[in-house]
Amino acid sequence: MFKINSSYLKLKAGYLFPEISRRVNNFSKENQNANLIRLGIGDVTKPLPEACCKAMKLAIEEMATESGFHGYGPEQGYSWLREVIAQFDYQSRSCDISPDEIFVSDGSKCDSSNILEILGEGNRIAVTDPVYPVYVDSNVMAGRTGPVESSGRYKGLKYIPINAENDFVAQIPSEPVDLIYLCFPNNPTGAVATAEQLSAWVDYAKTNKSLILFDAAYEAFIQDPKLPHSIYEIDGARDCAIEFRSFSKNAGFTGTRCAFTVIPKSLKGKAPNEENIDLWSLWNRRQSTKFNGVSYIVQRGAESVYSSEGQSQVSKLVSFYMENAGIIKTQLEQMKLTVYGGENAPYVWIQTPEGIDSWGFFDHLLNKANIVGTPGSGFGAAGEGYFRLSAFNSRENVKEAMRRISCI
Ligand SMILES: *Cc1c(COP(=O)(O)O)cnc(C)c1O
Repeated sequence: MFKINSSYLKLKAGYLFPEISRRVNNFSKENQNANLIRLGIGDVTKPLPEACCKAMKLAIEEMATESGFHGYGPEQGYSWLREVIAQFDYQSRSCDISPDEIFVSDGSKCDSSNILEILGEGNRIAVTDPVYPVYVDSNVMAGRTGPVESSGRYKGLKYIPINAENDFVAQIPSEPVDLIYLCFPNNPTGAVATAEQLSAWVDYAKTNKSLILFDAAYEAFIQDPKLPHSIYEIDGARDCAIEFRSFSKNAGFTGTRCAFTVIPKSLKGKAPNEENIDLWSLWNRRQSTKFNGVSYIVQRGAESVYSSEGQSQVSKLVSFYMENAGIIKTQLEQMKLTVYGGENAPYVWIQTPEGIDSWGFFDHLLNKANIVGTPGSGFGAAGEGYFRLSAFNSRENVKEAMRRISCI
């Protein structure tokens, strides 16, 4: 009989979100009139910016004409989109990134998983803990880890804790690793990385000839003007980092799908014969073979994010969610809870009260305030004792949720 990819059998049974659903369903069965407020989900709630909708409608009209019809586009994305990305997201911040180093895609989630295809077996891999589960699970699926241990961690991965003990700073490992996944502003902790901290990572990567996989999906939420938005703001990053960006969170494209990955042409990795091979060519080959591009209509929508109308609408969306984060943070702090994040990221990361673990706090909020959040332990062993609330919701729901929390 044919064989399956047995690496999939190493995956922990999808635990976090099914377990949340199970507990919420049980609660709802017993409390049919309860009006649940969900602050657990990492999805936006506001409609698309008007500029994007206008651009996409126009693009549909074009597609209805003989002269304006577009079939397959370039696998790397249309040059007009790559040009505005390079200009607005990189050159304007003095990052030396050119349009042809940008690969437009239908999501950062798939890019950050698919990137493993061009990276060899046997790389030593580091992730932070807590972590966006995609980085870990995609390595498990690709057969790049050992089995799961009782702690929930996988053998063969190096976990770098980010928690209160280290001030939410990812500590540089003392031993060499080859691939390092970093996500700042961080999901789920809301932690950020300063230029000095990222410089230390770039120095480490250059010294050890390692590759940083930098996920900047939340860069638009950065409020502090001193914080870097891109790893390429750091000298030397062109030689050791790939960056993932997405229109999902800033422009509400979670259901529309558009993102991009930056692979500088100067980035090289080692072949078995010790030859240095540039990653750009491998990714270009991979995308040309396996991907047929993002739809013309959606790319026109993404392009309009960079128009002056689009920029002002996106900045209003970001401000709206960050005001939500502020409301959540202020209320929880008034209740003497210790709260992190929520200042440069749309996630508030709460230390659970003494004697209550992550799931205990989940049950407490569900039962007493009918609020659904996300237990920190679901993002990794070092997330135990923490709880994530998301700022992606209506103002009404956020205020009502905080009113209820203040009464428990
Ligand atoms: C939401 C999110 C993304 C974006 O993923 P898309 O596939 O582009 O929607 C990437 N990284 C992290 C950590 C996220 O939370």
